[in-house]
Amino acid sequence: MPEGDSIFRAARTLERALKGRVVEQFESALPALTRVHYDKSVTGRTIEAVTARGKHLLIEFSGDLYLHTHMRMNGSWHIYRPGARWRRPAREMRIIIGVRDVLAVGFNIPVAEFLSSRELARHSDLSALGPDLLGPSFDEADARRRIRAHATEAIGDVLLNQRTVAGVGNVLKSEILFVAATCPFDRVAHLGDADLGRVIRVARELMAMSARGSGRLTTRSMDPASKLWVYGRGGLPCRKCGTTIESKKTGMDARLTYWCPSCQPSLPA
Ligand SMILES: [Zn+2]
Repeated sequence: MPEGDSIFRAARTLERALKGRVVEQFESALPALTRVHYDKSVTGRTIEAVTARGKHLLIEFSGDLYLHTHMRMNGSWHIYRPGARWRRPAREMRIIIGVRDVLAVGFNIPVAEFLSSRELARHSDLSALGPDLLGPSFDEADARRRIRAHATEAIGDVLLNQRTVAGVGNVLKSEILFVAATCPFDRVAHLGDADLGRVIRVARELMAMSARGSGRLTTRSMDPASKLWVYGRGGLPCRKCGTTIESKKTGMDARLTYWCPSCQPSLPA
């Protein structure tokens, strides 16, 4: 599933390819988008910015028009030269934005809509988002207050709640809590301010690190086989202490949480 860091990376790649360029081609397999395009023509507009907000991606066009997309599980954006062979089947194409010499193609994007700046400000999903961990105006004290509001919940669940802080997905959740030496099932109320501060700082560090790189590399290892500390490593020895990594299904969608019981001891309740 695309996490905040990979959306951030996608936004940066798209912005590099598209910013300041004039749209020469716009196509979509999504009727809601083509309707707006017929009405307000996306072609001829300049692409002003591409930004990530949590797991949402926003493409800003001149003339007060924003394209909001959310990738959910399988969506992705690719950049191609015109005429180049796509790495996904054409039937998965949802959106094409063409500028001179570059084609941005969105595949399998389930959520896409055009918005004005006013609609954007009132947008329920976007305005309900907590502070973006990779955002330029991120405020640690504010994030701590928002996490504290979920006192009786497990820190692992609260980190995934995009209304609290935006950007952490399931893989990074396990990795962040390992690096922060925090048990995923500890209730927020049991964590001190120093603990929460550490979790938040580690979250930002790991997200920024994987947003910069080409893949998730929380261990900083160059070996592709040892990219992650705990995620996906249930039953294997901890890379730090050798204790067997545990895994457990949690939450409504039964996502797996991985942790090392020795490096991440549960706080006394
Ligand atoms: Zn360990």
